[in-house]
Amino acid sequence: MRIDIITLLPELMESPLDHSILKRAREKGLLEVQLHNLRDYTPYKHGQVDDYQYGGGAGMVMMAEPLVRCIESLQKEHRYDEIIYMTPDGQRLQQQMANQLSLKKELLIIAGHYKGIDERVREHFVSMEISIGDYVLSGGELPALVLTDAIGRLLPGVLGDETSALTDSFQDGILSPPVYTRPAEFRGWKVPDVLLSGNFPAIEAWREEEALKRTRERRPDLLDEG
Ligand code: SAH
Repeated sequence: MRIDIITLLPELMESPLDHSILKRAREKGLLEVQLHNLRDYTPYKHGQVDDYQYGGGAGMVMMAEPLVRCIESLQKEHRYDEIIYMTPDGQRLQQQMANQLSLKKELLIIAGHYKGIDERVREHFVSMEISIGDYVLSGGELPALVLTDAIGRLLPGVLGDETSALTDSFQDGILSPPVYTRPAEFRGWKVPDVLLSGNFPAIEAWREEEALKRTRERRPDLLDEG
């Protein structure tokens, strides 16, 4: 899979892409991520990419022309399955959405800044708008990285243990059960006996029960939806 990201701050995005699972995905050739600096595409002087908003009011708006030049130049080389704009008024990112996007071949993600991007780009180029939650961040870089991570870890072969992404929270509509590792006793606090029993059906049953209990306590809405 290939993900192109249009940003004003490519340097900000490099480190998360160069560590841990995303790094491994890229090194294995399972995920290619390319960052594109919007300023390289502006026809305006001094790398200008934003301007005052029509109608007045505080806050700059990212201009259409640099964005469209960048998108169209990338489209010459790629046929994007989706052109995604990260925005707080988009569809809320959920595991199911990440699952679906992980099946695509080429994605283009736009990270906004200031008050956002000129509405005409959203109308005429963007095919999907995604929010990472009901709060406002200063730029779309962190949201674009969140989306890239959520997708990247699902690509077959990226996670060492093939099944581990499937047993994460939300994958089957519930939260994950508690997990423990060595030692079996720490400061007098013991790991539940069943986990040490070697009785795998009993362990499975315990995990399912704990997962349901946790979901009922913390996220009853997930059970209602299911
Ligand atoms: N004026 C806009 C917020 C702009 S925040 C509004 O009220 O809706 C600046 C940029 O940060 C946005 O263009 C977007 O790309 C990004 N951003 C901020 N919060 C976000 C969120 N919750 N999800 C996705 N992107 C977000």
